[in-house]
Amino acid sequence: MRSLSPNQRSQSIEESATLAISFRAQQLKAQGKDIIALGAGEPDFPTPEPIARAAIRAIEDGKYRYTPASGLPQLREAGAKWLKNAFALEFSADEVLVTAGAKPALHMALSTIVEKGDRVLIPAPYWVSYPALVRMADGEPVVVPSVPDQGFVHTADQIAAAADVSGARGIILNYPNNPSGAVPTRAQMESIVRVAAQRDMWILSDEIYAQLRYDGAEYCSPAHFESGRGRTMVVGGFTKSHTLTGWRVGFLAGPKDVIAAAARAQSQVLGNACTISQEASLVACDEPPHEEIARRLPAFDARRKFLVREINEIPGLRLGAPRGAFYAFVDARKLCAERGMTDAQLCSRLLEEQFLATVPGSAFGAPGFLRISYAAPMKDLEGAVARLRAFATVKVAP
Ligand code: PMP
Ligand code: GLU
Repeated sequence: MRSLSPNQRSQSIEESATLAISFRAQQLKAQGKDIIALGAGEPDFPTPEPIARAAIRAIEDGKYRYTPASGLPQLREAGAKWLKNAFALEFSADEVLVTAGAKPALHMALSTIVEKGDRVLIPAPYWVSYPALVRMADGEPVVVPSVPDQGFVHTADQIAAAADVSGARGIILNYPNNPSGAVPTRAQMESIVRVAAQRDMWILSDEIYAQLRYDGAEYCSPAHFESGRGRTMVVGGFTKSHTLTGWRVGFLAGPKDVIAAAARAQSQVLGNACTISQEASLVACDEPPHEEIARRLPAFDARRKFLVREINEIPGLRLGAPRGAFYAFVDARKLCAERGMTDAQLCSRLLEEQFLATVPGSAFGAPGFLRISYAAPMKDLEGAVARLRAFATVKVAP
Protein backbone atom coordinates (compact mmCIF):
# COMPACT_ATOMS: atom_id res chain seq x y z
CA MET A 1 0.00 0.00 0.00
CA ARG A 2 1.29 3.47 -0.87
CA SER A 3 1.63 5.65 2.18
CA LEU A 4 -0.02 9.06 2.30
CA SER A 5 2.51 11.83 1.70
CA PRO A 6 2.62 15.24 0.04
CA ASN A 7 3.40 14.99 -3.69
CA GLN A 8 6.62 16.24 -5.25
CA ARG A 9 5.16 19.53 -6.42
CA SER A 10 3.83 20.48 -3.01
CA GLN A 11 7.17 19.56 -1.46
CA SER A 12 8.83 22.10 -3.75
CA ILE A 13 6.57 24.86 -2.38
CA GLU A 14 8.11 26.73 0.52
CA GLU A 15 6.04 28.71 3.01
CA SER A 16 5.64 32.42 2.19
CA ALA A 17 8.66 34.04 3.92
CA THR A 18 6.76 37.25 4.67
CA LEU A 19 3.91 35.42 6.36
CA ALA A 20 6.26 33.03 8.21
CA ILE A 21 8.22 35.95 9.67
CA SER A 22 5.15 37.85 10.72
CA PHE A 23 3.73 34.77 12.46
CA ARG A 24 7.06 34.26 14.28
CA ALA A 25 6.93 37.92 15.36
CA GLN A 26 3.35 37.42 16.61
CA GLN A 27 4.47 34.38 18.60
CA LEU A 28 7.27 36.36 20.28
CA LYS A 29 4.82 39.19 21.00
CA ALA A 30 2.44 36.71 22.62
CA GLN A 31 5.35 35.63 24.86
CA GLY A 32 5.55 39.22 26.07
CA LYS A 33 8.55 40.32 23.94
CA ASP A 34 8.66 43.97 22.89
CA ILE A 35 8.47 43.24 19.16
CA ILE A 36 8.54 45.82 16.38
CA ALA A 37 6.96 43.97 13.47
CA LEU A 38 8.03 45.37 10.10
CA GLY A 39 7.91 42.03 8.31
CA ALA A 40 4.68 41.70 6.34
CA GLY A 41 3.44 44.78 4.51
CA GLU A 42 0.02 45.61 5.89
CA PRO A 43 -1.12 49.23 6.24
CA ASP A 44 -1.72 50.42 9.78
CA PHE A 45 -4.64 52.59 8.53
CA PRO A 46 -8.09 51.09 9.03
CA THR A 47 -10.35 50.10 6.13
CA PRO A 48 -12.22 53.32 5.20
CA GLU A 49 -15.54 53.57 7.01
CA PRO A 50 -17.86 53.71 3.96
CA ILE A 51 -16.41 50.39 2.77
CA ALA A 52 -16.70 48.77 6.19
CA ARG A 53 -20.29 50.04 6.52
CA ALA A 54 -21.20 48.61 3.12
CA ALA A 55 -20.09 45.19 4.35
CA ILE A 56 -22.21 45.49 7.49
CA ARG A 57 -25.16 46.59 5.35
CA ALA A 58 -24.62 43.61 3.04
CA ILE A 59 -24.98 41.21 5.98
CA GLU A 60 -28.05 43.06 7.30
CA ASP A 61 -29.64 42.96 3.85
CA GLY A 62 -28.93 39.24 3.47
CA LYS A 63 -26.44 39.76 0.64
CA TYR A 64 -24.20 36.88 1.64
CA ARG A 65 -25.11 34.09 -0.74
CA TYR A 66 -23.03 32.64 -3.57
CA THR A 67 -22.31 34.94 -6.48
CA PRO A 68 -21.29 33.86 -9.99
CA ALA A 69 -17.73 32.46 -9.84
CA SER A 70 -16.52 35.37 -11.95
CA GLY A 71 -17.93 37.83 -9.40
CA LEU A 72 -21.03 39.99 -9.04
CA PRO A 73 -21.83 41.27 -12.55
CA GLN A 74 -22.19 44.82 -11.18
CA LEU A 75 -18.74 44.55 -9.52
CA ARG A 76 -17.12 43.36 -12.77
CA GLU A 77 -18.71 46.41 -14.38
CA ALA A 78 -17.63 48.73 -11.55
CA GLY A 79 -14.13 47.20 -11.55
CA ALA A 80 -13.75 47.86 -15.28
CA LYS A 81 -14.87 51.47 -14.73
CA TRP A 82 -12.46 51.88 -11.79
CA LEU A 83 -9.55 50.51 -13.83
CA LYS A 84 -10.39 53.04 -16.53
CA ASN A 85 -10.90 56.04 -14.26
CA ALA A 86 -8.01 55.43 -11.88
CA PHE A 87 -5.47 53.87 -14.25
CA ALA A 88 -6.58 54.57 -17.84
CA LEU A 89 -6.82 50.81 -18.42
CA GLU A 90 -9.30 49.75 -21.09
CA PHE A 91 -11.03 46.52 -20.10
CA SER A 92 -14.70 45.63 -20.50
CA ALA A 93 -16.66 43.93 -17.69
CA ASP A 94 -16.20 40.50 -19.28
CA GLU A 95 -12.45 41.08 -19.29
CA VAL A 96 -12.45 41.49 -15.49
CA LEU A 97 -12.55 38.60 -13.02
CA VAL A 98 -13.26 39.17 -9.33
CA THR A 99 -10.93 37.01 -7.26
CA ALA A 100 -10.18 36.50 -3.57
CA GLY A 101 -7.27 39.01 -3.55
CA ALA A 102 -4.20 39.61 -5.68
CA LYS A 103 -2.61 36.29 -4.72
CA PRO A 104 -5.47 34.19 -6.15
CA ALA A 105 -5.59 36.54 -9.17
CA LEU A 106 -1.94 35.66 -9.87
CA HIS A 107 -2.68 31.98 -9.31
CA MET A 108 -5.75 32.00 -11.58
CA ALA A 109 -3.81 33.81 -14.30
CA LEU A 110 -0.78 31.51 -14.16
CA SER A 111 -2.77 28.31 -13.94
CA THR A 112 -4.78 29.43 -16.97
CA ILE A 113 -1.91 30.42 -19.29
CA VAL A 114 1.21 28.46 -18.31
CA GLU A 115 1.72 25.21 -20.26
CA LYS A 116 3.61 22.41 -18.48
CA GLY A 117 7.32 23.25 -18.43
CA ASP A 118 6.91 26.81 -19.72
CA ARG A 119 9.62 29.13 -18.49
CA VAL A 120 8.52 32.36 -16.89
CA LEU A 121 10.87 35.31 -16.35
CA ILE A 122 10.84 36.82 -12.89
CA PRO A 123 13.03 39.91 -12.57
CA ALA A 124 14.60 40.11 -9.09
CA PRO A 125 13.98 41.37 -6.58
CA TYR A 126 10.56 39.77 -6.87
CA TRP A 127 7.70 39.40 -4.49
CA VAL A 128 8.26 36.17 -2.53
CA SER A 129 5.31 34.22 -3.91
CA TYR A 130 6.01 34.43 -7.67
CA PRO A 131 8.38 31.45 -8.02
CA ALA A 132 6.08 29.20 -6.00
CA LEU A 133 3.02 30.37 -7.95
CA VAL A 134 4.77 29.57 -11.25
CA ARG A 135 5.77 26.11 -10.02
CA MET A 136 2.22 25.45 -8.83
CA ALA A 137 1.12 26.13 -12.40
CA ASP A 138 3.67 23.51 -13.61
CA GLY A 139 5.90 26.23 -15.04
CA GLU A 140 9.56 26.88 -14.44
CA PRO A 141 10.56 30.19 -12.85
CA VAL A 142 13.61 31.86 -14.42
CA VAL A 143 14.97 34.58 -12.15
CA VAL A 144 16.63 37.55 -13.84
CA PRO A 145 19.31 38.67 -11.35
CA SER A 146 18.65 41.98 -9.63
CA VAL A 147 20.35 45.21 -10.71
CA PRO A 148 20.79 47.36 -7.59
CA ASP A 149 23.12 49.76 -9.43
CA GLN A 150 20.33 50.54 -11.91
CA GLY A 151 17.79 51.41 -9.23
CA PHE A 152 16.42 47.87 -9.60
CA VAL A 153 14.99 48.47 -13.09
CA HIS A 154 16.29 46.08 -15.76
CA THR A 155 17.18 47.31 -19.20
CA ALA A 156 15.35 45.87 -22.18
CA ASP A 157 18.62 44.23 -23.24
CA GLN A 158 18.92 42.42 -19.91
CA ILE A 159 15.36 41.12 -20.19
CA ALA A 160 15.88 40.18 -23.84
CA ALA A 161 19.06 38.24 -23.03
CA ALA A 162 17.28 36.31 -20.25
CA ALA A 163 14.33 35.60 -22.55
CA ASP A 164 16.56 34.35 -25.36
CA VAL A 165 18.71 32.12 -23.17
CA SER A 166 15.71 30.55 -21.45
CA GLY A 167 13.13 30.62 -24.24
CA ALA A 168 10.67 32.11 -21.75
CA ARG A 169 6.98 32.25 -22.72
CA GLY A 170 6.05 34.98 -20.25
CA ILE A 171 7.20 37.49 -17.66
CA ILE A 172 5.89 38.72 -14.33
CA LEU A 173 6.32 42.47 -13.80
CA ASN A 174 5.61 44.21 -10.51
CA TYR A 175 5.81 47.99 -10.45
CA PRO A 176 5.83 49.74 -8.08
CA ASN A 177 7.97 46.87 -6.92
CA ASN A 178 7.75 44.92 -3.71
CA PRO A 179 10.39 44.91 -2.20
CA SER A 180 12.58 47.52 -3.96
CA GLY A 181 10.03 50.31 -4.46
CA ALA A 182 11.28 50.69 -8.05
CA VAL A 183 9.03 52.38 -10.60
CA PRO A 184 10.28 52.38 -14.21
CA THR A 185 9.85 55.39 -16.45
CA ARG A 186 7.35 55.15 -19.30
CA ALA A 187 10.25 54.75 -21.75
CA GLN A 188 11.78 51.91 -19.71
CA MET A 189 8.43 50.15 -19.50
CA GLU A 190 7.80 50.58 -23.20
CA SER A 191 11.16 49.02 -24.08
CA ILE A 192 10.50 46.00 -21.84
CA VAL A 193 7.03 45.55 -23.36
CA ARG A 194 8.62 45.70 -26.82
CA VAL A 195 10.99 42.85 -25.89
CA ALA A 196 8.02 40.76 -24.74
CA ALA A 197 6.02 41.57 -27.87
CA GLN A 198 8.90 40.73 -30.22
CA ARG A 199 9.09 37.28 -28.63
CA ASP A 200 5.31 36.89 -28.35
CA MET A 201 5.52 36.55 -24.58
CA TRP A 202 2.62 37.20 -22.27
CA ILE A 203 2.99 39.70 -19.41
CA LEU A 204 1.48 39.34 -15.97
CA SER A 205 1.53 42.80 -14.43
CA ASP A 206 1.03 42.89 -10.67
CA GLU A 207 -0.16 46.45 -10.03
CA ILE A 208 -1.37 46.07 -6.47
CA TYR A 209 0.75 49.10 -5.41
CA ALA A 210 -0.13 51.24 -8.45
CA GLN A 211 -1.51 54.11 -6.39
CA LEU A 212 1.37 54.35 -3.93
CA ARG A 213 4.05 56.45 -5.66
CA TYR A 214 6.38 59.25 -4.51
CA ASP A 215 8.69 61.89 -5.93
CA GLY A 216 6.53 62.29 -9.03
CA ALA A 217 7.04 58.67 -10.15
CA GLU A 218 4.67 58.07 -13.04
CA TYR A 219 2.27 55.11 -13.08
CA CYS A 220 2.59 53.11 -16.23
CA SER A 221 1.13 49.70 -17.13
CA PRO A 222 2.33 47.37 -19.91
CA ALA A 223 -1.34 47.35 -20.96
CA HIS A 224 -1.07 51.05 -21.89
CA PHE A 225 1.00 50.19 -24.96
CA GLU A 226 -0.42 48.92 -28.22
CA SER A 227 2.09 46.06 -28.21
CA GLY A 228 1.16 45.22 -24.61
CA ARG A 229 -2.60 45.04 -25.25
CA GLY A 230 -3.87 41.52 -25.68
CA ARG A 231 -0.79 39.98 -24.06
CA THR A 232 -1.01 41.67 -20.63
CA MET A 233 -3.01 40.52 -17.64
CA VAL A 234 -3.30 43.10 -14.89
CA VAL A 235 -3.66 42.24 -11.20
CA GLY A 236 -5.18 45.04 -9.16
CA GLY A 237 -7.37 45.85 -6.22
CA PHE A 238 -7.75 47.68 -2.95
CA THR A 239 -5.69 45.41 -0.69
CA LYS A 240 -2.92 47.91 0.00
CA SER A 241 -4.45 51.25 -0.92
CA HIS A 242 -7.59 50.76 1.24
CA THR A 243 -6.48 48.06 3.72
CA LEU A 244 -8.67 45.34 2.29
CA THR A 245 -5.94 42.88 3.36
CA GLY A 246 -8.09 40.38 5.23
CA TRP A 247 -11.17 40.94 3.08
CA ARG A 248 -9.83 38.75 0.27
CA VAL A 249 -11.06 40.47 -2.86
CA GLY A 250 -9.22 41.71 -5.95
CA PHE A 251 -9.30 41.82 -9.74
CA LEU A 252 -7.66 40.08 -12.66
CA ALA A 253 -8.09 41.88 -15.99
CA GLY A 254 -7.05 40.43 -19.33
CA PRO A 255 -8.20 39.05 -22.67
CA LYS A 256 -11.78 37.79 -22.56
CA ASP A 257 -10.99 34.14 -23.37
CA VAL A 258 -8.31 33.98 -20.66
CA ILE A 259 -10.66 35.57 -18.12
CA ALA A 260 -13.44 33.13 -19.07
CA ALA A 261 -11.05 30.18 -18.64
CA ALA A 262 -9.78 31.55 -15.31
CA ALA A 263 -13.41 31.96 -14.18
CA ARG A 264 -14.09 28.30 -15.04
CA ALA A 265 -11.06 27.27 -12.95
CA GLN A 266 -12.18 29.55 -10.15
CA SER A 267 -15.66 28.00 -10.23
CA GLN A 268 -14.04 24.65 -9.39
CA VAL A 269 -11.58 25.69 -6.69
CA LEU A 270 -12.91 28.81 -5.02
CA GLY A 271 -16.47 29.34 -6.14
CA ASN A 272 -16.56 33.06 -5.61
CA ALA A 273 -14.68 35.73 -3.68
CA CYS A 274 -16.39 36.55 -0.37
CA THR A 275 -19.80 38.02 -1.25
CA ILE A 276 -19.73 40.54 1.60
CA SER A 277 -16.32 41.82 0.48
CA GLN A 278 -17.58 42.06 -3.08
CA GLU A 279 -20.53 44.19 -1.96
CA ALA A 280 -18.13 46.45 -0.05
CA SER A 281 -15.80 46.68 -3.04
CA LEU A 282 -18.65 48.22 -5.04
CA VAL A 283 -18.36 51.23 -2.73
CA ALA A 284 -14.55 51.28 -3.08
CA CYS A 285 -14.88 51.32 -6.89
CA ASP A 286 -17.36 54.18 -6.78
CA GLU A 287 -15.28 56.33 -4.43
CA PRO A 288 -13.37 59.11 -6.17
CA PRO A 289 -10.23 57.09 -6.98
CA HIS A 290 -7.64 59.25 -5.29
CA GLU A 291 -9.40 60.38 -2.13
CA GLU A 292 -8.19 57.69 0.26
CA ILE A 293 -4.76 57.77 -1.37
CA ALA A 294 -4.52 61.54 -0.81
CA ARG A 295 -5.08 60.87 2.87
CA ARG A 296 -2.47 58.10 3.17
CA LEU A 297 0.26 59.15 0.80
CA PRO A 298 1.67 62.07 2.86
CA ALA A 299 2.02 59.76 5.88
CA PHE A 300 3.79 57.04 3.88
CA ASP A 301 5.98 59.68 2.27
CA ALA A 302 7.06 61.14 5.64
CA ARG A 303 7.96 57.65 6.90
CA ARG A 304 9.85 56.89 3.71
CA LYS A 305 11.89 60.09 3.99
CA PHE A 306 12.59 59.41 7.65
CA LEU A 307 13.96 55.94 6.88
CA VAL A 308 16.11 57.15 3.98
CA ARG A 309 17.61 59.87 6.14
CA GLU A 310 18.21 57.73 9.24
CA ILE A 311 19.27 54.43 7.69
CA ASN A 312 21.94 56.10 5.57
CA GLU A 313 23.47 57.31 8.86
CA ILE A 314 23.92 53.75 10.15
CA PRO A 315 27.34 52.18 9.48
CA GLY A 316 27.19 49.27 7.02
CA LEU A 317 23.68 50.09 5.74
CA ARG A 318 22.53 52.01 2.67
CA LEU A 319 19.10 52.88 1.37
CA GLY A 320 18.25 54.33 -2.02
CA ALA A 321 14.91 56.20 -1.94
CA PRO A 322 12.04 53.87 -2.89
CA ARG A 323 9.69 55.49 -5.45
CA GLY A 324 6.62 53.38 -4.75
CA ALA A 325 4.84 50.85 -2.49
CA PHE A 326 5.76 50.95 1.23
CA TYR A 327 8.98 49.07 1.65
CA ALA A 328 12.56 50.13 2.34
CA PHE A 329 14.97 47.69 0.70
CA VAL A 330 18.11 48.26 2.71
CA ASP A 331 21.49 47.34 1.27
CA ALA A 332 23.14 45.44 4.14
CA ARG A 333 25.88 43.80 2.06
CA LYS A 334 28.63 45.73 3.86
CA LEU A 335 27.32 44.94 7.33
CA CYS A 336 26.83 41.25 6.41
CA ALA A 337 30.38 41.06 5.01
CA GLU A 338 31.89 42.73 8.08
CA ARG A 339 30.06 40.39 10.44
CA GLY A 340 30.51 37.29 8.26
CA MET A 341 26.81 36.55 8.10
CA THR A 342 24.11 36.12 5.49
CA ASP A 343 21.06 38.36 5.22
CA ALA A 344 18.95 35.52 6.64
CA GLN A 345 21.24 35.33 9.68
CA LEU A 346 21.11 39.10 10.03
CA CYS A 347 17.29 39.08 10.03
CA SER A 348 17.11 36.24 12.45
CA ARG A 349 19.54 37.96 14.85
CA LEU A 350 17.63 41.23 14.56
CA LEU A 351 14.49 39.35 15.53
CA GLU A 352 15.92 37.27 18.35
CA GLU A 353 18.28 39.93 19.82
CA GLN A 354 16.67 43.26 18.95
CA PHE A 355 13.06 42.03 18.64
CA LEU A 356 12.84 43.66 15.22
CA ALA A 357 11.06 41.71 12.47
CA THR A 358 12.27 42.33 8.91
CA VAL A 359 12.52 40.09 5.82
CA PRO A 360 15.85 38.96 4.28
CA GLY A 361 16.55 40.04 0.70
CA SER A 362 17.29 36.44 -0.25
CA ALA A 363 13.55 35.69 0.09
CA PHE A 364 13.11 38.16 -2.81
CA GLY A 365 16.04 36.86 -4.85
CA ALA A 366 18.40 39.65 -3.70
CA PRO A 367 20.78 38.38 -1.02
CA GLY A 368 22.50 40.94 1.20
CA PHE A 369 19.43 43.16 1.49
CA LEU A 370 16.85 43.62 4.21
CA ARG A 371 13.22 44.61 3.67
CA ILE A 372 11.53 46.90 6.14
CA SER A 373 7.83 47.65 5.75
CA TYR A 374 6.97 51.27 6.49
CA ALA A 375 3.24 50.59 6.48
CA ALA A 376 3.64 51.07 10.21
CA PRO A 377 3.35 53.96 12.69
CA MET A 378 6.26 56.41 12.90
CA LYS A 379 7.02 55.42 16.49
CA ASP A 380 7.69 51.85 15.33
CA LEU A 381 10.01 53.15 12.62
CA GLU A 382 11.86 55.30 15.16
CA GLY A 383 12.24 52.23 17.36
CA ALA A 384 13.38 50.14 14.40
CA VAL A 385 16.08 52.66 13.47
CA ALA A 386 17.33 52.73 17.08
CA ARG A 387 17.51 48.93 17.16
CA LEU A 388 19.25 48.73 13.79
CA ARG A 389 21.76 51.31 14.97
CA ALA A 390 22.33 49.41 18.22
CA PHE A 391 22.95 46.20 16.28
CA ALA A 392 25.19 47.78 13.65
CA THR A 393 27.35 49.77 16.05
CA VAL A 394 27.90 47.12 18.71
CA LYS A 395 31.61 46.23 19.04
CA VAL A 396 32.36 42.72 17.85
CA ALA A 397 35.44 40.78 18.93
CA PRO A 398 38.09 40.89 16.17
N1 PMP B 1 1.41 41.09 -5.00
C1 PMP B 1 2.27 41.77 -4.23
C2 PMP B 1 3.42 42.46 -4.91
C3 PMP B 1 2.11 41.83 -2.85
O1 PMP B 1 2.97 42.52 -2.11
C4 PMP B 1 1.03 41.15 -2.25
C5 PMP B 1 0.87 41.14 -0.76
N2 PMP B 1 -0.33 41.61 -0.36
C6 PMP B 1 0.15 40.46 -3.09
C7 PMP B 1 0.37 40.45 -4.45
C8 PMP B 1 -1.02 39.71 -2.55
O2 PMP B 1 -2.05 40.59 -2.20
P1 PMP B 1 -3.45 40.08 -1.65
O3 PMP B 1 -3.39 40.24 -0.19
O4 PMP B 1 -4.46 40.97 -2.31
O5 PMP B 1 -3.62 38.66 -2.06
N1 GLU C 1 2.37 41.16 0.42
C1 GLU C 1 2.74 41.53 1.75
C2 GLU C 1 4.24 41.39 1.91
O1 GLU C 1 4.94 41.27 0.97
C3 GLU C 1 1.92 40.72 2.75
C4 GLU C 1 2.39 39.32 3.04
C5 GLU C 1 2.01 38.33 1.99
O2 GLU C 1 0.90 38.39 1.46
O3 GLU C 1 2.87 37.49 1.68
O4 GLU C 1 4.73 41.46 2.99
